[in-house]
Amino acid sequence: MPRYDFRCRSCGATFELRRPMSQANAPALCPQGHEDTVKLLSTVAVTGTASGGGAAASAPASGGGGCCGGGCCG
Ligand SMILES: [Zn+2]
Repeated sequence: MPRYDFRCRSCGATFELRRPMSQANAPALCPQGHEDTVKLLSTVAVTGTASGGGAAASAPASGGGGCCGGGCCG
């Protein structure tokens, strides 16, 4: 479950909550009970793993992919 950082504009406290992504933009209560909070940019990115794996995305650029181009459908 992703973690989100919030900051309270009433007391200036920062806190973090774990909640499902569907509730990422739901209002969060400060630990002090204030409702005037803003969501900060999380340091935990959604696509975090930096794996450079160029596995199987190498289609030939030429050819067009199909019969058009060879003269069979014209
Ligand atoms: Zn507060």
